[in-house]
Amino acid sequence: ARTLIKVENLQVHFPLYQGGIFSRQMGVLKAVDNVNFTIYQGETLGLVGESGCGKSTTGRAILQLQAPTGGQVYFEERELTQLSGENLRQMRRQMQMIFQDPYASLNPRMTVGDIVAEPLAIYDLAQGQGKMARVRELLDIVGLNPSFIHRYPHEFSGGQRQRIAIARALALNPAFIVCDEPIAALDVSIQAQIINLMQALQREFNLTYLFIAHDLSVVRHISDRVAVMYLGKIVELADHRTLYETPQHPYTQALLSAVPIPDPDLEAQRQRIILTGDVPSPLNPPPGCNFQTRCPYATERCGQAPEPEFREIAPGHFVACHLV
Ligand code: SF4
Ligand code: MG
Repeated sequence: ARTLIKVENLQVHFPLYQGGIFSRQMGVLKAVDNVNFTIYQGETLGLVGESGCGKSTTGRAILQLQAPTGGQVYFEERELTQLSGENLRQMRRQMQMIFQDPYASLNPRMTVGDIVAEPLAIYDLAQGQGKMARVRELLDIVGLNPSFIHRYPHEFSGGQRQRIAIARALALNPAFIVCDEPIAALDVSIQAQIINLMQALQREFNLTYLFIAHDLSVVRHISDRVAVMYLGKIVELADHRTLYETPQHPYTQALLSAVPIPDPDLEAQRQRIILTGDVPSPLNPPPGCNFQTRCPYATERCGQAPEPEFREIAPGHFVACHLV
């Protein structure tokens, strides 16, 4: 498969200061720390982890909405972190983001037509009748009535608002979309509809997705491959089947054991891995593996530098754990 996005040693570190006039730096928050992965053309890479683990920041850093403090991001052959001005603006046309909260991400004072047309206006791609025809087409594509163009976001349900946000994201014919927990704020009854829509759009327009979620059940049906993130690092990455059937990292195993199994017999048989311990502060993480405070298998070595390497243990299956 052709590589569309390549992330190399991506880093987003925030210096943290203690307040006051004589403020001094207290440390560095490693929101994203040495992250490596590729995303293939036309696939969905799921990115899963608890809130605060750095997954949204990773998505934003790929799109250069958040400036990385280290590493490289490639879109096809172009390296993005060094681009600025018009070059970056033109690259951004091909990359869009869909946000978690369709109530907050749509401007309440703009009509649906103006919201969806906004990217076309920013890039000066269509005017007047042509622009509104394109907006009607986009609304139709996402399953909304094209006559909605004169209405306002508050007139719509959460699921409809997310469809409006998707229509806007599609306006510029992007190749890549970061979907940041796009169904997390929606009613359960609506979630499957939005997932189905996103899959249909992916096939129709040959889209590539980075699909961010906080648990593994959400990305189960949409991901081709899945990356699991913990405290700023990817701890495991594998194709869908390998990750769900033979997860190797203790954190992935724990996340999976929290996902309910529909079959009550299987549910009764299996062992749950209960995570104990505290999430260490990403500000001053302990030396060694950053999962050590919660890992049921931690040994002395896990508390010492160097941290476990993110290694390819089988073709396409990467794990960062000393025991694997
Ligand atoms: Fe657990 Fe050690 Fe593996 Fe980290 S390296 S996940 S602490 S066994
Ligand atoms: Mg987030």
